[in-house]
Amino acid sequence: MFSKKEEKITYTVEKCMSCNTMVKRKFKTGDFLFKETSECQSCKGKILIEKIFAETIKA
Ligand SMILES: [Zn+2]
Repeated sequence: MFSKKEEKITYTVEKCMSCNTMVKRKFKTGDFLFKETSECQSCKGKILIEKIFAETIKA
């Protein structure tokens, strides 16, 4: 029997629409593409979710 120990971690990439600052963080429940999440700390622009992806980590 195969026993693969793999852990998947989902990440969310947020991007400011005004200054293009990108921040990668761990996925939170309720995240979806192009959701407006917060306000940019440097330019007060809108921050939207640009990308959601999963990385598989082999233990
Ligand atoms: Zn900004």
